[in-house]
Amino acid sequence: MSNLSSRDILEKLISFATVSRDSNLQLITFVRDYLASHGVESELFHNEEGTKASLFATIGPKDRGGVVLSGHTDVVPVDGQNWTVDPFQLSEHDSKLYGRGTADMKGFIASVLAAVPLFVKTELKTPIHLAFSYDEEIGCLGVRPMLAELAKRPLKYSLCLIGEPTEMKPVLGHKGKLAMRCCIKGAACHSAYAPYGVNAIEYAAQLITRLGEMGKRQAQPELHDARFDPPYSTIQTGVIKGGRALNIVPAECEFDFEVRALPDFDAQTVADELQQYAQNELVPAMQAVQPDTGIEMQPLSAYPGLVTPPDSTAAQLLALISGSDDFGTVAFGTEGGLFEQAGIPTVVCGPGSMDQGHKPDEFIHVQQLAACDAMLVKLANHLAHHSL
Ligand SMILES: [Zn+2]
Repeated sequence: MSNLSSRDILEKLISFATVSRDSNLQLITFVRDYLASHGVESELFHNEEGTKASLFATIGPKDRGGVVLSGHTDVVPVDGQNWTVDPFQLSEHDSKLYGRGTADMKGFIASVLAAVPLFVKTELKTPIHLAFSYDEEIGCLGVRPMLAELAKRPLKYSLCLIGEPTEMKPVLGHKGKLAMRCCIKGAACHSAYAPYGVNAIEYAAQLITRLGEMGKRQAQPELHDARFDPPYSTIQTGVIKGGRALNIVPAECEFDFEVRALPDFDAQTVADELQQYAQNELVPAMQAVQPDTGIEMQPLSAYPGLVTPPDSTAAQLLALISGSDDFGTVAFGTEGGLFEQAGIPTVVCGPGSMDQGHKPDEFIHVQQLAACDAMLVKLANHLAHHSL
């Protein structure tokens, strides 16, 4: 394959409709073949069903760790969104490239792939690894098996750069997230006899109120961390279902809540406290009316937060190649906390803005793509001369 520009490659990547619920294998096959055409071998890590895969590849010396460039290949759906252009065919207006995933985050992957011929021809002292995952948008799931595999290897990877859209600003942290579902099993009866039933909605309301109180506790000034916006951990109930008719005491209610946790706050403590409140105070009252009632909770998804120290090697390298040490944080999550847990210091910096992510008419500005291309040239130059 001749050398393609990041725009050419982005056009190709956008044409694969890799919505998280669908296969990403066509995209992965394209990337594998492209890498092979530049003499780079890929390893694939498939999901159990064999419908999706992550890709890992190394350029440069194989006997030492190095810099991991990481991105997810899946995108969020376009259902119900009012697009004025075809979301899966790249189009350009006013120096903006439109398509689902242009910002989040195929723009970065395109830029990395466009840099591969340079990476290959540079005599790298420190290797560059590519790690492309799936199922990020549904709870950072796809990267986990790949990380588990990498953790078994003798190599220590020096750092990971995740190219989520930060408008090319250097980012060292984000909050973690825990999403939970709470199911209340009450007991139905005619509403005229309400006290003889167990009203699942009313018990849900007590639990949700309790979550609101816990949220207020987290908002106290002494718990603030000014690096984040908002500067504290937040708790939010986002979905609730229950009830069939006003004249029936509802037997079922379920609601989903999430904790957006500062990196040093363990979100699980919120779920534990709610569970204790349910078991100690609510369930006994419910079961006094009707023994076959109760409250159950199950996790929906979780990923850890990220805080990388500004004086770390990872942060210093990011400052060098991005041209800025004005480090920030982002409100959205990334796979970064999972890389960090796998022992790989992680930073975030990539082209495009999350203001456009997940929205109709998602776009990336061509200058953002060019800035990312330039950052990767600096990275290659640096790694040609430095061991990490
Ligand atoms: Zn993303």
